[in-house]
Amino acid sequence: MLRYFVNFIFPPRCAGCGALLPLSSRELICPECLAEASGSDMPAVEYSHCRLISSALYEGSAKNLIKEMKFRNTRSCAKILARVMTDSFIKHSSGFSPEIIIPVPLHKSRKNERGYNQSALIAKSIARLLKIPFSASKLQRTRNTPSQRGLHPAERIKNVKGAFIVSGKVPQAVLLIDDVATTGATINECAATLKSAGAKRVVALTFSKT
Ligand SMILES: [Zn+2]
Repeated sequence: MLRYFVNFIFPPRCAGCGALLPLSSRELICPECLAEASGSDMPAVEYSHCRLISSALYEGSAKNLIKEMKFRNTRSCAKILARVMTDSFIKHSSGFSPEIIIPVPLHKSRKNERGYNQSALIAKSIARLLKIPFSASKLQRTRNTPSQRGLHPAERIKNVKGAFIVSGKVPQAVLLIDDVATTGATINECAATLKSAGAKRVVALTFSKT
């Protein structure tokens, strides 16, 4: 009843395409956008330290969902992304069974500024869906690296080199979570760091890939 009332005053719009949603809607996404994000079968990409599984290309409703998560409905969008990503993971995991789920960390100063790490929110949700332990403290960012935006692939690799540190030992099979992957420099560096602390195999899972 309350939801209906709130929705009546602020009509809910789809986070993917902006279309008005039914007043009774519990979701922030319309069925078409959900199908579009879930339906695009992205081929897995192999990097030197990990394999990357992604759900959708960074365009259209997938891009809008990420933006909506960053600037407004953070938690609701993180849950939608987590559901789509979990489906992609189950479809493409090829028998890989992770012992721990770890998000790509933000540097403390950036986390304080924003108040949360969106990748950690998504990872926590995925951990609940897959019933696998989650840790946001195992992998940390030691340097507040400048944004990767606008950098060439080689510069991106240099920019994140040595930027992460692991506390304690890491289980052998790790599922690494981020919202978007571009060249893969960040996730590959995270995977290398996890491997130096005991991981044997790292699979990265992102919602989107540019
Ligand atoms: Zn939509």
